[in-house]
Amino acid sequence: MATYEYSCSLCGPFDVKLAIGTAPQTYGCPVCSAVARRVFSAPALSVMPHGVASLHEREEKSREAPAVVSEVPSGKRPQPRPHPALSRLPRP
Ligand SMILES: [Zn+2]
Repeated sequence: MATYEYSCSLCGPFDVKLAIGTAPQTYGCPVCSAVARRVFSAPALSVMPHGVASLHEREEKSREAPAVVSEVPSGKRPQPRPHPALSRLPRP
């Protein structure tokens, strides 16, 4: 099911839930039964949590203008800890 948006010239916009791909170009207004046109709007991305929305925005931006580094980041890298099983191996 998907939510499709229609706009009645008398009553204004309303939503209709229909199976995906079955939305007609016109639909009967539930209030006045007049013919309402289908309208297209941006998806409701604002209901997404802020962290997810910012990741989506960053991913979209990286498609055309990816962030490129020009040098190795400064700072000390943490030394990797040896695997615990290595301490049980026989020593020469
Ligand atoms: Zn109407």
